[in-house]
Amino acid sequence: MKILILGGGVIGVTSAWYLAEAGHEVIVIDRQHGVGLETSYANAGEISPGYASPWAAPGIPLKALKWLFARHAPLIVRPGLDLAMLRWLAALLANCTEARYLVNKARMMRLAEFSQACLAGLRDQLAFDYDGRQLGTLQLFRDQKQLDDAMRDVAALHEAGIPFEILDPRGCVVVEPGLDEAQGTIAGGLYLPRDETGDCFKFTNALADAARARGVRFLTGRSIERLVPAGGVVGRCETDAGPIFADAFVVALGSYSAKMIAPLGMRLPVYPVKGYSMTLPITDAARAPVSTLLDESYKVAITRLGDRIRVGGMAEICGYDLALPQRRRTTLERSVNTLFGGAGDTGRANFWCGLRPMTPDGTPVIGPTGIPNLFLNTGHGTLGWTMACGSGKIIADMMSGRKPQIRADDLALGRYQAG
Ligand SMILES: Cc1cc2nc3c(=O)[nH]c(=O)nc-3n(C[C@H](O)[C@H](O)[C@H](O)COP(=O)(O)OP(=O)(O)OC[C@H]3O[C@@H](n4cnc5c(N)ncnc54)[C@H](O)[C@@H]3O)c2cc1C
Repeated sequence: MKILILGGGVIGVTSAWYLAEAGHEVIVIDRQHGVGLETSYANAGEISPGYASPWAAPGIPLKALKWLFARHAPLIVRPGLDLAMLRWLAALLANCTEARYLVNKARMMRLAEFSQACLAGLRDQLAFDYDGRQLGTLQLFRDQKQLDDAMRDVAALHEAGIPFEILDPRGCVVVEPGLDEAQGTIAGGLYLPRDETGDCFKFTNALADAARARGVRFLTGRSIERLVPAGGVVGRCETDAGPIFADAFVVALGSYSAKMIAPLGMRLPVYPVKGYSMTLPITDAARAPVSTLLDESYKVAITRLGDRIRVGGMAEICGYDLALPQRRRTTLERSVNTLFGGAGDTGRANFWCGLRPMTPDGTPVIGPTGIPNLFLNTGHGTLGWTMACGSGKIIADMMSGRKPQIRADDLALGRYQAG
């Protein structure tokens, strides 16, 4: 089958790899001059099934209200006259019940764990370098209240059989020696030894090279204008350089997926949630993180990527705006400087933002649609890097008429129609 993948982020590229492996003729199209250049470019680098949790959780509406007045708030909402945003926010609030949280979290963990196994398989098979490390993640709490709140997740980890350790401040320093000087400001931590880290952009490019060697064609620098229906299916994809015909189409356009399929009569609840990152060169390796540390106060992740530190996080619900305000950079600097002071040079940091393609229930949308030859692999939100390989494998299995290796019927768009 000839398959056109719309979007060359980490999700489009993993889909391409597994579809090519399944024997299909695959083309990937992206508007950027290469792959992985939008949201997959400089994310926080965590591959973290253990922290796979929806943002929609009990208590979040109240916290969000408090954050409205906080100077370094991790979440900012700038509601406009955007119907899609208001609809999405309402759906997010509806998912903040204990019952919905548990269903959504279990689904996300299932996919994230499967994805980690797929990534390990690719690592063995292709032996490429993406600054990957398998040293766990540490969620760091600066006060007792944060530590107490984390106990709800501990119960879920326990139930899912995910190994974890609750650490006192000294234990945190043992795991992350660079925290030594900050020890007095730490209340404790939650350590997940099985989590991993790595550079999503490097990975996406390395996998694209491997896919190219298998015959996948990458059409970069081409903007997709619309999908054109014909006889009850999608007939072609119109681009700024002419039409492309295929037997089947996969939409992996991240935050731009919903707009692309809306003219086909489909309402996809994927909305952009803006985040920021800063990448700084390491100047003192002994003070730098060895893996990922999640700073619970600022909701920021600090990750070691080779000879660099990536600090990423925060969330703004403000449409498709890509501005880079200085105050957000200051928050990232504050987080890394208070925990790993002197480890890197913030003066030489690269400041970046990206739009997380978020669903209101935290789970991506993977699978068929009401149009027989149109498939979705999008909406990976906060954890697209963590879930990429598994999502690519699942969509390839579905499109090849094979049963996915994990339950996947509840990942498709149909779950919203089912209420
Ligand atoms: C600050 C931040 C930190 C994050 N940290 C983590 C983390 O630690 N771990 C984790 O697992 N995830 C993390 N994420 C989330 C992760 O980065 C995303 O979920 C993931 O990159 C989404 O990948 P994607 O391929 O769906 O989207 P994208 O990478 O955005 O790819 C979509 C592609 O579609 C293309 N495109 C869009 N419209 C068109 C068009 N009209 N024509 C042609 N091409 C088009 C774009 O050019 C783009 O390349 C983070 C995100 C942010 C913003």
